[in-house]
Amino acid sequence: MAHVLIVGGGVVGLSTAWFLRERGEEVTVLDAGRAGMGASWGNAGWLTPGISTPLPDPAILAYGIKAVASPSSPVYMPVSFDPELWGFLLRFLRNSTPSRWMTAMRSLIGINVHAFDAFDALARGGADGVGRVEVPTHVPGKDGTAPFIAAYTDVRHRKGLQHEFDQIDAAGQPVSYQLLDGDEVRALIPNVSDAITAGIRLEDTRFIDPPRYVASLRAAVLARGVRIVEDTEVLGIDDDGPRVRLTFSPGVEPLSGDAVVVATGSLLGRLAKRLGVRTTVRAGRGYSFSVPADPMPTGPVYFPFERVACTPLADRFRVAGMMEFRRSTAPFDARRVAAIVRASKPLFRDLPTEGVGVDLADRADEWVGSRPCTPDGLPLIGATRSERVFVAGGHGMWGVTLGPATGQLLAEQITTGRTPPPLASFSPLR
Ligand SMILES: Cc1cc2nc3c(=O)[nH]c(=O)nc-3n(C[C@H](O)[C@H](O)[C@H](O)COP(=O)(O)OP(=O)(O)OC[C@H]3O[C@@H](n4cnc5c(N)ncnc54)[C@H](O)[C@@H]3O)c2cc1C
Repeated sequence: MAHVLIVGGGVVGLSTAWFLRERGEEVTVLDAGRAGMGASWGNAGWLTPGISTPLPDPAILAYGIKAVASPSSPVYMPVSFDPELWGFLLRFLRNSTPSRWMTAMRSLIGINVHAFDAFDALARGGADGVGRVEVPTHVPGKDGTAPFIAAYTDVRHRKGLQHEFDQIDAAGQPVSYQLLDGDEVRALIPNVSDAITAGIRLEDTRFIDPPRYVASLRAAVLARGVRIVEDTEVLGIDDDGPRVRLTFSPGVEPLSGDAVVVATGSLLGRLAKRLGVRTTVRAGRGYSFSVPADPMPTGPVYFPFERVACTPLADRFRVAGMMEFRRSTAPFDARRVAAIVRASKPLFRDLPTEGVGVDLADRADEWVGSRPCTPDGLPLIGATRSERVFVAGGHGMWGVTLGPATGQLLAEQITTGRTPPPLASFSPLR
């Protein structure tokens, strides 16, 4: 039995730990804070492999530099001197062509098709019956939940998503959906305002309550016998030959293992660069908060034009949005939340005055987190220059959807020494 050290306890690191245990390895997860409190905590919780697409999208080019420099834009980049960021964006734009998007999309399909099976494996628990993730994945449109709805104030805007669905279909992954009018959307989600005139009902999706789900995943990993060491930042990785050594701040003893997995989300580059990983991972920061809703919507709602993503949590309604290309360590910026609130106001009925809708003024859990974005829109999963050090991350907008499948496939690679075909395009050394 090998001892694998996993640096980073987000959904990717915890899933990798779970599947490595399932294959009989001894595993230790180390996290700089508390496991599950990074990007994996405050996201929208959509499990949508059917529409998990590369982020560098030809439509991004249409936004233009002027739009992204405006603080109220849904894609925001502060005009600042940051050569690494500008280099990243240049490569990002170069990948935003239709042909590169199509190539990247075909690569993603390979892992997208494993996404739900991996969640089901976590829900079943290990072969020994231990380590079930108790918090369910909900299937919209089933068991009393509303379907996954995209909603629009202008029917013309719907063409954008339909075009994307056609492209996903052309890449080899059919998308199943139906068109709705405004009243049909309101019948399913009574909280949306009369301004909504069109919608799309998307099939083959699921969703989770992210804080509860990652807490349950953490508990399942512990139950399986994985050691989790928290509040411990890893500062370096040294491959000394047969063993790999993690180093910490002065005074903390190094820790050695047979293999290491770097799963540090948007900070992946800090440890992976010295291991030959040249692809930059940058934070695409997003914001979320929760509000009271009555009635509580029973499924996710997406407003593609405003880029606002909503999900019911246990007793509040989470509203998320924004793509802010800033350092993940930059402070929380209240103007971004204000921009999401401004964009959301016309979309919902106002609960305090109408008795139905959402109360955007009564916000809690205001949060910023970092999507780990790569310039080619593909994750980094596999071995580095060291055959004992692996990387798992860079999933951008889809790290929750693809986290468990990533852990499952990477555990196979680490324990068999063979790269599973779906991971072939995601080599961290590309
Ligand atoms: C607003 C928003 C909405 C989103 N919505 C969705 C969605 O609906 N569906 C979806 O699939 N995805 C969504 N995402 C993306 C998703 O949240 C991320 O892709 C995913 O959580 C990344 O997981 P991770 O495990 O790679 O990183 P993280 O969850 O960030 O975990 C990384 C961990 O590494 C630790 N760490 C970092 N450096 C070190 C170090 N040196 N030593 C020790 N530990 C370290 C951190 O403390 C952290 O716990 C959304 C993201 C945002 C911001």
